[in-house]
Amino acid sequence: MKSNKKRKTNSIYVTKPALSPLKRFTKELETVWDSGILTHHGPKVQKLEKGISNLLGLRNFTSTSNGTIALQIAIKALELKGEIITSAFTWIATVSAIKWEKCTPVFCDINPKTLNIDPDQIINKISSKTSAIMPVHVFGNPCEIEVIQRIADDHGLKVIYDAAHGVGANYKNKSILSYGDISATSLHATKILNSGEGGGCVTSDMGIKSRLERIRFFGHNSDSSDILEDGFNGKMTEIHASLGLANLENFWEVLKDRKEKSLLYENFLNGNKNLELQDVNRDDSNNSYFPIICKDEEHLVRIKKMLNGNKIFPRRYFYPSANNFHHIVNYEPCPISEDIAKRILCLPLYFSLEREQIKIICNLIDTLK
Ligand SMILES: *Cc1c(COP(=O)(O)O)cnc(C)c1O
Repeated sequence: MKSNKKRKTNSIYVTKPALSPLKRFTKELETVWDSGILTHHGPKVQKLEKGISNLLGLRNFTSTSNGTIALQIAIKALELKGEIITSAFTWIATVSAIKWEKCTPVFCDINPKTLNIDPDQIINKISSKTSAIMPVHVFGNPCEIEVIQRIADDHGLKVIYDAAHGVGANYKNKSILSYGDISATSLHATKILNSGEGGGCVTSDMGIKSRLERIRFFGHNSDSSDILEDGFNGKMTEIHASLGLANLENFWEVLKDRKEKSLLYENFLNGNKNLELQDVNRDDSNNSYFPIICKDEEHLVRIKKMLNGNKIFPRRYFYPSANNFHHIVNYEPCPISEDIAKRILCLPLYFSLEREQIKIICNLIDTLK
């Protein structure tokens, strides 16, 4: 893979999609043009679903048009009602998916080190209306899956993982996408494996798998003669699948590069006493983001401003804490998530980012105490 040298800007953004050589993509597209099939679970989509399953050792992968729809289809397929406990430290899509499916998000606070949902606090949030837990593997760092499953089993709850950041991350030597009743992931341009827009669900229950497929396809039965339940259009196109297939070929290279660059950042920043880093096992995580946790919000704003002045554009992920979106949710305090959200900044991390640029970024950050 090559970096896109033709771009006229020297700006460094938080991410840049990992793209296969253009020729690899157009080669896929030639057969799409020949077949004239653009969507409807066509050959490219089927090939991508198999490709991702093989890549990650999954039983299956049900592709969708994006990761938000994957979460919604998962909630629909499990017929969830009432309250769903989720992490306050997440992207808004986790919350909106729950709300579109007519359920109520109940926010749980996080572990300040791993940034994932704190299992000890899940129990306090369970009520008679709770139907499921929806934890998020934040920045590709695996949640405490076994503890969460035990809580779910003890209380008769379903588990859907928001594994939007999870492709390439493992828990106990298995892809994190293989856990929970359903794991839903994203193949959005900013994620570690991308098809431009896209996503998918993974489940080991074949009954649920066929429901996921049905909901994705308007609720049709197998010969399209009847509608068996409320569905919608959640299908991925052949064009997106072609991009996913092309990018799939570089996936291990991209994954390895992320780990090396994360270790480089870590080495440079370890001496900086004003920063904390996410507690991750770099062999299990996919290292898809590199967040730093500043002393306080003022410290963050100073770092951000100074980097912006040098044409470096890190991003505040996730800010604010999702329980703070008062126009759409009832506020429930999650002090750790609210505090972290104010202080966390994701530094640039992508395939074509040069090592020298990482050094420059770290040196600049070191100049501000
Ligand atoms: C990206 C993301 C989503 C949504 O995925 P899309 O493919 O953009 O719809 C959901 N949850 C989290 C945590 C995400 O980062």
